[in-house]
Amino acid sequence: METILLLANSEPDGSLAKSALEALGAAKTLGAGLPGSKMVVGLVGQTAQTAADSVATCGAAAFLSVVGADFAPSRYATDAAAAEALTGAAQATVILAPATSRWNRVLPGVAQRLGGRADTHVTGLSASNGKLSVSRWYYRQRMEAVVQRTQRPWVILVDPGSQPAWQGERGTATLQAVPVNVPETCKRTTVVGVREPAADAQTIRPDATLLLVAGAGWTKKQADGQPHVKDAEKLIHDCLKLARASLGSSKSLVDLGGEGQAVLSFLTHLNQIGQTGSTPRHPKGLATCCHGEEPHAVGWRFINERRAINLDPNCGWARGKADVLYVADAFAVLARVNQLLADNAGALG
Ligand SMILES: Cc1cc2nc3c(=O)[nH]c(=O)nc-3n(C[C@H](O)[C@H](O)[C@H](O)COP(=O)(O)OP(=O)(O)OC[C@H]3O[C@@H](n4cnc5c(N)ncnc54)[C@H](O)[C@@H]3O)c2cc1C
Repeated sequence: METILLLANSEPDGSLAKSALEALGAAKTLGAGLPGSKMVVGLVGQTAQTAADSVATCGAAAFLSVVGADFAPSRYATDAAAAEALTGAAQATVILAPATSRWNRVLPGVAQRLGGRADTHVTGLSASNGKLSVSRWYYRQRMEAVVQRTQRPWVILVDPGSQPAWQGERGTATLQAVPVNVPETCKRTTVVGVREPAADAQTIRPDATLLLVAGAGWTKKQADGQPHVKDAEKLIHDCLKLARASLGSSKSLVDLGGEGQAVLSFLTHLNQIGQTGSTPRHPKGLATCCHGEEPHAVGWRFINERRAINLDPNCGWARGKADVLYVADAFAVLARVNQLLADNAGALG
């Protein structure tokens, strides 16, 4: 009989992030497939009542918390101590947490302390005949494995965006505080601030419906023998704004910046998609001026519908990597798309 602990942190405003609700949804689904199991919610942060109330009706057998100023920041020593204490208090055999940077770096170490095992970047979970299985990808999303373990506790970090978020009514949760002793040696690391781009400079939007990917072609000489990087920048920027899209890039385009060549001013290596870049999740993706080479296209694993615009009918996308390839000039297509999006936005008021 499994006891599933849903482990999450409350945000600075007291709420639960979407990734935490997704892990909760996965915990609920697992619990339903494991007869006799129970689920416990364990929360860490400055406060936990608002977060617990937001999921009060999820059917948890108990709501546990480790709270206080010591547990507000993301810090290995205190997060590990909190996770260890919550696992013990819940007597958890399976621990589910969102695979955020905060929990990814802490929970494998906690599993080691507890004599358990951890699996990171889990994208699928199922339970049948009382047996729990998880799936995850290996070798930069090229191979998928299904994993079962007998060792307990089993820590499972659920990749954000891979599961539907739990939805339900708010309520009033009865929180039980779990005491954790924090020696001074656990507080040597302090968070002195957060650096992030200004809101209007933010081009990475994990929740966007569309991923717009820019390739090196945007900086290449065009039909008139000249590059048109400033025009490219405006077209892409307008499209991101009008479609509320997230921006991805090929490695070649990002690397051009390091070589001192003109590139899009709002692009960084964080935008890079692919084998040595990221594997974002979006319902739709549109590649523009990008060849669709294998190391790049491997980053499109979790894009449901893939389209590309390329002048070359023989480009990599034409070889089965895109659902639709528009053989066309991306400058012309994006100008027209932006016009239609602007007209539509105007019509909607
Ligand atoms: C080990 C390794 C790891 C790698 N990892 C990654 C990775 O993580 N991510 C990644 O992206 N790459 C990666 N690469 C590089 C990858 O193989 C490609 O070289 C790169 O993605 C190509 O980028 P690109 O398509 O932007 O540029 P290019 O290959 O230069 O293609 C530009 C395209 O733009 C088109 N074009 C030009 N003008 C227009 C226009 N007006 N309208 C429409 N189309 C136009 C051209 O037809 C051309 O197809 C890796 C390579 C290796 C060896």
